[in-house]
Amino acid sequence: MRNFAYTRAQTVHEAVTALMADPRAQLLAGGTNLVDLMKYEVEKPSSIIDINRLPLKNVETLRDGGLRIGALASNAAVAYDPRVQSAFPLLSSAILAGASAQLRNAATTGGNLLQRTRCYYFYDPSTPCNKREPGSGCSAIGGVNRIHAVLGASEACIAVHPSDMCVALSALGATVEVEGPQGGRDIAFSDFHRLPGDHPERDNTLQQGEIITAVRLEANRFAGHSTYLKLRDRQSYAFALVSVAAALDIEDGSIVDLRVALGGVAHKPWRDPLAEAEFAGRPADEETFRDVAERLMAGAVGQGDNDFKIPLARRAIVRALRQAASGRSQIPSVKAIQ
Ligand code: SF4
Repeated sequence: MRNFAYTRAQTVHEAVTALMADPRAQLLAGGTNLVDLMKYEVEKPSSIIDINRLPLKNVETLRDGGLRIGALASNAAVAYDPRVQSAFPLLSSAILAGASAQLRNAATTGGNLLQRTRCYYFYDPSTPCNKREPGSGCSAIGGVNRIHAVLGASEACIAVHPSDMCVALSALGATVEVEGPQGGRDIAFSDFHRLPGDHPERDNTLQQGEIITAVRLEANRFAGHSTYLKLRDRQSYAFALVSVAAALDIEDGSIVDLRVALGGVAHKPWRDPLAEAEFAGRPADEETFRDVAERLMAGAVGQGDNDFKIPLARRAIVRALRQAASGRSQIPSVKAIQ
């Protein structure tokens, strides 16, 4: 690891000012991804701004019954918060499907949004990688690409976003609150992460000097019919090959509102709200769920090693929607789906 300067921010304003003063500075919260990346010399910040003392750990109840989750609230604190478990069980399930208990104790809400891809080549500075070194090429295209994207990829990068929590936040239509040199602004969750395009080095739409302060969830009617299904090579401490956050609002057996977000298949949590809207009024049954899966995966393209993800994702969507429609609650800590 290389030497770096260390400062501790006491206020959000101090953190923003420090970020603006040094374009190569990085924020340190839980450090569960950043420290690894520094050890691999993928990230080489000239300074580290420790934000752990900022007052951003609280989970507040909003007037409409929604929640405002502080950026420094740990993954564990959010997953086990009774308000999250009762009103947003999808979020709790997704968080508990990720990482290990130790990591969830350290990892933060804001950090989860900013974690970087687990593409093997990104972590290996001896190989070309446009995300790590723009213009150097993409080793995964034509290389080993079993874990890579089947939706929304570009000729520059086929990496996937690794988060479980973000897949649930995408389905729930969260809002990201940020503070920057121009003041505060809200970013719709669907606009926060980027597809790779010609600039895979940019994972998100944060501007220079901006810091995430909270994630907001509005009240919804999905609590009784939602599920998070994660498919991976082993049952614990592994990233998703395919994951599905499914949420349904059902009245008299018909779909009022349907949300399906996919993880492990694209550079960002994948959602298609226009396609979802086509299924309003349809019966919440197996035939509809199969049609949803076909519609959502219609544009999928494999890279060779990862071709299996396309039929796997179709089956996972149907299975997750079936589980959500059944209304049987999951037991998040068991990570099982019925
Ligand atoms: Fe780098 Fe993206 Fe290619 Fe992986 S897929 S090697 S992160 S450019």
